[in-house]
Parts: sequence; C-alpha cells; structure tokens
Amino acid sequence: MATTRPTRSAQEVWQRLLEGNMRFVQGLFKGRDLLDLRRSLTRGQSPMAAVLCCSDSRVPAEIIFDQSLGDLFVVRTAGLVLEPAGVGSLEYAVAHLHVPLLVIKGHEGCGAVTAAVQHPDLEEGHITAVVREIAPAAAQARARGLAGPELVEAATETHLMRLQAKLSQESAIIREALAAGRLHLVVSKYYLSNGQVEVLDRTW
Ligand SMILES: [Zn+2]
Repeated sequence: MATTRPTRSAQEVWQRLLEGNMRFVQGLFKGRDLLDLRRSLTRGQSPMAAVLCCSDSRVPAEIIFDQSLGDLFVVRTAGLVLEPAGVGSLEYAVAHLHVPLLVIKGHEGCGAVTAAVQHPDLEEGHITAVVREIAPAAAQARARGLAGPELVEAATETHLMRLQAKLSQESAIIREALAAGRLHLVVSKYYLSNGQVEVLDRTW
C-alpha cells in the first residue's frame, strides 16, 4: 500500500474537520466527484486523520465531518470498545499512514454505554465484552450520584477519557508518536440532537 507523509499539521486537520462538521450541521455538504476521487485513490491512501468512533448507524465519521473517500482512517466498534485489533488498526494509521491526528469521537445517547449503565453484568454472547469494557466508566459516573440520561452522558465522557489513557498505556507506537509531537489527539463527543461535535480534551 503506497503512502505519503502528511503535509498538514494536526491543528490544520482538526480545523478542516470542524469546518466539515459545520457544513454537516447546516446541511451544506461539499460537492464531490466520487468517480474521479475513486480513480485517483487506486494507488494508495493518505488519510488526514484516524478516527475511533461508535458503530451506531447514526454517527459515521465521514458524514458527520463532511469528508470523503481517502480522507479518514476509521475504526468503529460498539461503544468504541478497543481490543488488540482496533489498537493495531490505529497504530497502522499512525506508523504507516503517518496521520498527524487521532480523533476519539463518542456520542450522545450511546446504546453501548446505556447497556453498561443498566446491565453491567450482562451475559450475552460477545456483547458481554462490550459492556464489561465500559462498565468501569459507568461505575465511576454512578459514584457521582447521577441517574438517568445524565448518568449515561457522564459515563460516556468518562469512558472517552479512559480510552485516551488506555491508548497511550497500551500502545507504545501511539505513546511515542504523541511524545515526539508527530501525533496529536482529540477526545470529542457528537450530539445527535444538534449534529455538532464538541471537544472534551485535546493534546495541544
Ligand atoms: Zn454508540
């Protein structure tokens, strides 16, 4: 797979993503010639960012940030639960595709987080693995005395911040790229209600 080094900084990439999100919110999608774009990408990819987001059908990163083929390297799992293959996929984007930015994008009203809040001991096939991974964040949020939707949203935000820490702890490739300034990270949350992506934390 052919790759090229990034020509944009993480800050520039994030600015482009925010501008795309604003177009999405306003319904002003950028016109693109997908046929032409597909042809131009046959020899390789050089995405501008890696995104970790939920499998929820309402939250596809490319649409929410109004991006297209070749723009984003996306890892999606229910509740953004990270297993070795997911971490490895993000490492590939950092080490081989040289993305300058990694975006963790959770969302409002997440079903996986709701399940972890309501049924932390759920036993149902491999869904158990999803719930167990989010359960500590749910317990942390519950300890703050929250309930209902407030509890789910607080658990989501705690889970997203834990993911940021987990990525650095578990991946030497990501940790070293962050330390060297080759990579920046944004923790963000998408709101189903208004279409906006808001920053919870970032490394600059
Ligand atoms: Zn979700």
